[in-house]
Amino acid sequence: MATTHKTRMLIIGSGPAGLTAAIYGARAGMQPIVVQGLQPGGQLTITTDVENYPGFRDVIQGPWLMQEMQAQAEHVGTRMLWDTITDIDLDGSPFRATGDSGDVYEGDVLVIATGAQARWLGVPGEQELSGKGVSACATCDGFFYRGKKVVVIGGGNTAVEEALYLTNHASEVVLIHRRDTLRSEKILQDRLFAHPKISVLWNKAVDRFVGGDKGLTGVALIDTVTGEQSEVSTDGAFVAIGHAPSTELFRGKLELDAAGYVVVEPGTPKTGIPGVFACGDVMDHTYRQAVTAAGTGCMAALDAERFLAHRDFAAGQ
Ligand code: FAD
Ligand code: NAP
Repeated sequence: MATTHKTRMLIIGSGPAGLTAAIYGARAGMQPIVVQGLQPGGQLTITTDVENYPGFRDVIQGPWLMQEMQAQAEHVGTRMLWDTITDIDLDGSPFRATGDSGDVYEGDVLVIATGAQARWLGVPGEQELSGKGVSACATCDGFFYRGKKVVVIGGGNTAVEEALYLTNHASEVVLIHRRDTLRSEKILQDRLFAHPKISVLWNKAVDRFVGGDKGLTGVALIDTVTGEQSEVSTDGAFVAIGHAPSTELFRGKLELDAAGYVVVEPGTPKTGIPGVFACGDVMDHTYRQAVTAAGTGCMAALDAERFLAHRDFAAGQ
């Protein structure tokens, strides 16, 4: 039977933003509920090495960091619930969210921390061969390519990290990028260029993924400068071209920008609806780091606490 869960502070999303909001919210007595979604712990659970989250001298693992964050949030009084929000009512506090399970979640304040999801190229063969050689997660699927040749598409931090990670399994890794310079940080580029298993195909866009019932066999390419066509044979292709904000749920209910990010008052996590806050990758198309997501999660909780204190004070007058 469907249950209604009530809380002062409802948080949607369990990545660094949602869990940090929960830690601050719990410590402020708001007894937060976190609805975790399909990816408990968020994007860092699909990576391996994290070496830029402050506080750790040695490299740490993304999934471990998120387990620790969740444990910390629970330790101070957060309730973690396993559900995915499929409908939301933002017509004033309490805000009502309905989960895939049928359960309803009511929060006096709402913190949106739904983060981002992998983007796809949208070329022929991509969908058909997804799971049969085409993937968007090297840490999830890299193991299947032990001793094989793989390609990675993209030129940002994710693509370079995925290429480096795949060298643990694959015999050869080819990075395919549409321009002649990478967007990723220099330290990662240095590692990429120095790696004996990795080569780069510059100025190449994927035209289509080639394969059949037995899976992917190659990737057809177009040179972005000359227009020349070519094909590279491969056993696996990892699409790593960035992420799009997870905001479909809020379309038409909350102001989103042209790229789909939640619009907030500059320098704050405040949305256009009083009592609704957004933090992390869902509202940040510039920085998109675990530490910035955590930082804005903290800001969302502090502003949520102020909102409730102000409202409760006004109600008591
Ligand atoms: P996310 O981590 O995206 O979490 C979103 C959460 O929302 C998830 O728990 C999801 O299940 C939930 N959710 C979504 N929709 C719903 C719904 N409808 N109902 C309920 N829940 C929902 N950053 C670094 O600083 N250092 C790194 O080394 C680093 N490495 C990375 C490696 C990879 C491969 C990737 C993809 C990203 C990496 N990043 C790194 C970026 C970092 O992971 C993100 O900036 C950060 O995770 C954003 O946190 P977030 O809490 O905003 O969202
Ligand atoms: P990103 O920085 O947006 O880079 C996306 C890459 O994919 C770009 O190189 C882009 O090419 C390419 N691309 C986009 N659309 C394409 C298309 N249709 N066809 C071909 N190529 C396409 O995304 P990201 O690498 O996933 O990183 C996202 C955020 O997470 C960033 O802020 C990043 O710093 C962070 N992150 C951090 C770490 C870390 O700190 N170690 C690790 C991973 C991610 P162009 O360059 O030509 O635009």
